[in-house]
Amino acid sequence: MAFEYDDQNIFAKILRGEIPCDKVLENDHALAFRDIAPQAPDHVLVIPKGAYVSYDHFAQQASDAEIIGLTRLVGEVCAHVGVQPDGFRMVANTGPNAIQDVPHLHVHVLAGRPLGRMLRDQSDLL
Ligand code: AMP
Repeated sequence: MAFEYDDQNIFAKILRGEIPCDKVLENDHALAFRDIAPQAPDHVLVIPKGAYVSYDHFAQQASDAEIIGLTRLVGEVCAHVGVQPDGFRMVANTGPNAIQDVPHLHVHVLAGRPLGRMLRDQSDLL
């Protein structure tokens, strides 16, 4: 499967500094900023600085340094936000079945309220 990256997506524009973001943290390989339409008191997006469409694209093709960079930044965001002891959820929506709106990998970190079960039972849709 070839992954095609559209460099006009909104997160690419944030990375290029063409539009602002509410930055939380960053390192050499990843940027964390607050979601513009938060679904929890703390809702932070962690994105790689490289051009990756999705988590599978990233996990298959990113360098070890990029993977460590993104993963460490998720950890730093968790500490910064203070997800313990109540917990949090990480989500990386990918493709149409998961309704991915922005085609640049982003890990949602959601915290600060009870988040319910991960998925509703949607067996009636199958
Ligand atoms: P997804 O549906 O998983 O692709 O999530 C995309 C997320 O990006 C949504 O939660 C949006 O609220 C968020 N979003 C879109 N534009 C921006 C922006 N300019 N700054 C911060 N978050 C954004």
